[in-house]
Amino acid sequence: MYTEDNMRMDMPRPNNGTRKDRKENIDMSIVSKKSKQIPGSLIREMFAMQAGMKDVISFALGEPDFTAPQHVVDATVASFRRGETHYTPNTGIPALRKAVAATYQARGLDYQPSEILIGAGAISLLNLACTAMLDIGDEVLLPDPGWANYKGLMMQVGAVPIPVKVKEENGFMYEIDDLRNAITPKTKVILINSPSNPTGGVASAENLRQISDLAKERNLYVLTDEIYRELIWDGEPYTSIASFPGMKERTVVVDGFSKKYAMTGFRLAWSAAPLEVTTVMTKLLENVLSSVNEGVQWGGVAALTGNQDCVEEMKCQYRRRRELIVKGLNNIEKISCLWPKGAFYAFANISGTGLKSQEFAMRLLQEQHVVVVPGTGFGQGGEGFIRLSYATSEKSIQEGLRRMEAFVKGL
Ligand code: PMP
Repeated sequence: MYTEDNMRMDMPRPNNGTRKDRKENIDMSIVSKKSKQIPGSLIREMFAMQAGMKDVISFALGEPDFTAPQHVVDATVASFRRGETHYTPNTGIPALRKAVAATYQARGLDYQPSEILIGAGAISLLNLACTAMLDIGDEVLLPDPGWANYKGLMMQVGAVPIPVKVKEENGFMYEIDDLRNAITPKTKVILINSPSNPTGGVASAENLRQISDLAKERNLYVLTDEIYRELIWDGEPYTSIASFPGMKERTVVVDGFSKKYAMTGFRLAWSAAPLEVTTVMTKLLENVLSSVNEGVQWGGVAALTGNQDCVEEMKCQYRRRRELIVKGLNNIEKISCLWPKGAFYAFANISGTGLKSQEFAMRLLQEQHVVVVPGTGFGQGGEGFIRLSYATSEKSIQEGLRRMEAFVKGL
């Protein structure tokens, strides 16, 4: 065995480190085997397919079609103009951490600024949370269908994603017995995404209570992606699982500015987690981002502490679009769609058409120039469904529905 200890200039060197030997014995690719196994996104694939097509209506991208509020842009520009063009602390600027903690305190969740970490988009914090929480071989329970990137995030850190089917009849949220049955001695984390991408499902307080009881009983941890938390269409505001007794200490919350404030391009988000985890995530963040740029962080402060009318206006439009799209989908023969309770996605059941999700999406694109994402882009549990993002104009929704109806009639 060749180790640092036995490495002396006068010693014969073992062969396994030489170039010649590596060439003969090892498949030398510049790309690692691990990264080759990580799946790409079907959404991007669908997007690429429409290139060159004219008159396309797209329901594909999960991104608000609004621009960021003016006062947010102004605060960002003002910061850069002040010459704040340097690194900030790895954790984020104190004013933003304080503003985020205040939003939790206002909801009765006692996070201190020291437990808040600022990152470049929710995705960066999900990534850091995975590295911070998971060892190689640890299993993570994920919703299927669920946001496609979760699987890749887990695989990147050597953890094992275990899909747990979430069913239409249960509002696309976990059934507690399905979670319980998926637990093995290797299970460490339950991932919750509510409101959900792709289904628009929202976990009820009762469902979250059951999950929190299970987590405590089996000594599991929770990673909760609450990026759509404010986009809730009926009923009570969303309760984070972190607010259930004994859960704050075993939960990492990821949330951010992308969806609520239409700030996707700012790449700004936060995590809220016990100090021990936040400290580790901060250390890891140094190796990826060092810090988020300062101007954008002041934009975040303006978003949280400024006038919230802009959010209400966007929500008002999403509500109208939701009415339009869900009613329209349910009016198309052989298609049905559960009323999504949150986020800006409709997850329509197309199994009545006799087509598989992927075939439906491909043919709809080729024949009617309408882009939707096959449910299977979010896991095998998405077979028989398509996802439509209604973060697009009412005019596009109307035209897209008209074309979809023509497509289904022609089958
Ligand atoms: N989580 C979910 C469920 C999402 O849909 C998205 C964006 N599509 C993200 C996280 C990433 O958000 P961000 O743009 O803040 O990285």
